[in-house]
Amino acid sequence: MSKIWVLGAGQLGAMLKHAAQPLDIELRPVETDELDTFPIADDDWITVEREHWPDTPATKQLSEHPRFLNKQLLATLADRASQKRLLDELELATAPWVDVTEAVSAEQLFDELGERVLLKQRSGGYDGKGQHWLKQDGGAAQLSVPQGWGGNCIAEQAIGFDEEVSLIGMRHRDGRMAFYPLATNLHHQGILLATVSPVASKAPLQQQAEAMLSKLMESQDYVGVMTMECFQVGDKLLINEIAPRVHNSGHWTQAGSSLSQFEAHVRAVADLPMVEPLVKAQGIMLNLIGVDYNREWLGVPGVEVFWYGKEVRPGRKVGHINLCISERAQLLASLEQLKPLMDEVYGMAIDWVVSHLD
Ligand code: AMP
Repeated sequence: MSKIWVLGAGQLGAMLKHAAQPLDIELRPVETDELDTFPIADDDWITVEREHWPDTPATKQLSEHPRFLNKQLLATLADRASQKRLLDELELATAPWVDVTEAVSAEQLFDELGERVLLKQRSGGYDGKGQHWLKQDGGAAQLSVPQGWGGNCIAEQAIGFDEEVSLIGMRHRDGRMAFYPLATNLHHQGILLATVSPVASKAPLQQQAEAMLSKLMESQDYVGVMTMECFQVGDKLLINEIAPRVHNSGHWTQAGSSLSQFEAHVRAVADLPMVEPLVKAQGIMLNLIGVDYNREWLGVPGVEVFWYGKEVRPGRKVGHINLCISERAQLLASLEQLKPLMDEVYGMAIDWVVSHLD
């Protein structure tokens, strides 16, 4: 039986491994800083849990293996400029943007993109890192970008969105695709804080979202799970970012669906039967960001805790909590019980969740 090797050994790699085990699939996440190489067979499969990695003996071995999936697309998506160019070529709507080169002035960027302009590093930025709002100082011609960014960023128009949503889809080798219902996402300080899926009021956007992600996956002959993060502006979706992998906004599927996003990816990579994921009830995910583990969370009915075993640092994702409780009164009671066991910001997140319950 072919093994699956995963480039990267963070929490996504760990959750992929966890999903593969009951399917009798051997899946091995590999740290990107490994200096060793591994006994990878010719018929093993290689996939990723991240889109950026350093050049080490291990990453070289994995990424140069003939069965490293989606190789070309991974390179395109890892750079925001080539990602935006691909979406433009496919006529998939994104926030209007400009490739920032030495020759571009701040004035030109404001002229082209409007009065609020966000600079984003071309690679390596995530969770709101690598972003910088361009200052309006009387239309100064001089473009001031953070040190070390020169010629290595794009400028984006600020989008006045209603909400942020994401679509997670899967595509198998035979071209068949399936999708989860749109996830509605709350961000705090650039980091995902909470997800609810499905949300009935987002159902009218589902078809549009699926058509967009299908077009992208088909055009690239993609295999696996892919995530499309979008801004919702009225009844239109604009793509913010594409992640060629399982995603934080899909963690709710561990509790809320018959098929988790992790199992869906393993099935696609290992060419196991594809099924439509069934939804059990509204799924809720709260990210644990820079907070200490609290065993009392386990005393709340319906709470499923995933702790990643990482050192707790401010702004770092160290775990998540899932809830999927079909009975509304119990769900509300559990959320109320959870509130005092968490930091203040989660009170706001839980109120947001409750406002998205059907
Ligand atoms: P990113 O790192 O690109 O996923 O961005 C992190 C967060 O910054 C997003 O989830 C949005 O909340 C916000 N953001 C990113 N791009 C824009 C934009 N063009 N306009 C407004 N907000 C944005």
